[in-house]
Amino acid sequence: MHNDDFLTDLQSLVIHGDLDAENGADDTALAPAIYPASTYAARNSAEFAAMANQPRHPRYYARYGNPTQERCERLLAKLEGVEAALLCSSGMGAMSASLLALARAGDHIVAQTSHYMGTAKLLTDLLPGLGVEVTQVDQRDTAAFFAATRKNTRLIVVETPSNPTLALTDLAAIAEFARSRGIVTLADNTFASPINQRPRDFGIDLALHSATKYLGGHSDLIAGVVCGDAERVEKIWECAIALGTNVSPFNAFLLLRGLRTLPMRVARQNENALTLARFLETQPAIARVHYPELASHPQRALAKRQMRHGGGVLSIELKGGDGDEQGFHAAQKFVAALKLARHAVSLGGVETLVVHAASMWEASLTPEQMRRAGIAPSLVRIAAGLENAADLQADITQALSGIEDRQGSPE
Ligand SMILES: *Cc1c(COP(=O)(O)O)cnc(C)c1O
Repeated sequence: MHNDDFLTDLQSLVIHGDLDAENGADDTALAPAIYPASTYAARNSAEFAAMANQPRHPRYYARYGNPTQERCERLLAKLEGVEAALLCSSGMGAMSASLLALARAGDHIVAQTSHYMGTAKLLTDLLPGLGVEVTQVDQRDTAAFFAATRKNTRLIVVETPSNPTLALTDLAAIAEFARSRGIVTLADNTFASPINQRPRDFGIDLALHSATKYLGGHSDLIAGVVCGDAERVEKIWECAIALGTNVSPFNAFLLLRGLRTLPMRVARQNENALTLARFLETQPAIARVHYPELASHPQRALAKRQMRHGGGVLSIELKGGDGDEQGFHAAQKFVAALKLARHAVSLGGVETLVVHAASMWEASLTPEQMRRAGIAPSLVRIAAGLENAADLQADITQALSGIEDRQGSPE
């Protein structure tokens, strides 16, 4: 039988860490079974009562959980260094279930000005509509979190590094402050992945991921996970079964398969992102590079304290002329000229993806909101994949040469 004592590193853990003696999985099969069953039969009344009344029973009714999901959750909890994990139908499913489980009308939440778009929608629209007050503060300003806290503050929500400017939040400082006041903390850890950062190591209560990104890693599934103490995760699960945000058995299987290579994939993505960030900093067409592992990152000291590596995502601002409009067009032209990197939302997959932030959010953010979120008109997010770094560099070089030609030509 497998024994976690022999798993001295994360790569060994992700290959063997889901087979525990007590979860009754067939440990002779080297791939987990997928259970498409929506419901499970009891052999007698006592067994039925046990199935119906034990929280998170993996063989009762599939909206409550399933055996493949349970294996995957065990592994995710170990990766985040916590007791329990709850897999959901998407990152937003995990976020919705968590926020609705933890906040009620009359409660107050402190969050960041810069959050993933769906999270921002929950915080600025849906939760206030249900009577939950939310204050948003600049995530780089730790004192602003403290100042925003009130008597009825129940929850502090952070997301670090943030999208798309890779600004950081001080996890240890926020966690220490929140614990002293009995406030729950939740960190969206999607951009870092548990390989580069474990919020629990800094005292954060709950770590949340869009498993669609690094955890799945192959751009072929949608899932999310929230990880923390068993009791709190069970409370979120009670909310999730009412919302209907459980993961599908097939996606739990795909996620478990993706997780087998997570440390290796993320190591390569870290390397590729750092190589590209260093290269882009030397390019005359680039005004700025945002990446936590660069010496030029304004929060480099914090990055060193809480991240093992900078992660797979960086963003750049192109020079593209003086005005906002020229910058906007230079970025569009750059993205369109890339031949290897694909032009698509999402991140964390095997292929390099780029997006022009200002075009992505044109319809949903005003120019003022974009400025507040630090999104320059020429900002391009690059999510490094697993390709050869020299190939990516060559692709970027040829795309940049197109913009430079344009800049050199008379107006
Ligand atoms: C993608 C993403 C989400 C939402 O996840 P889905 O799986 O798309 O629902 C939440 N937070 C961050 C940081 C993300 O990148």
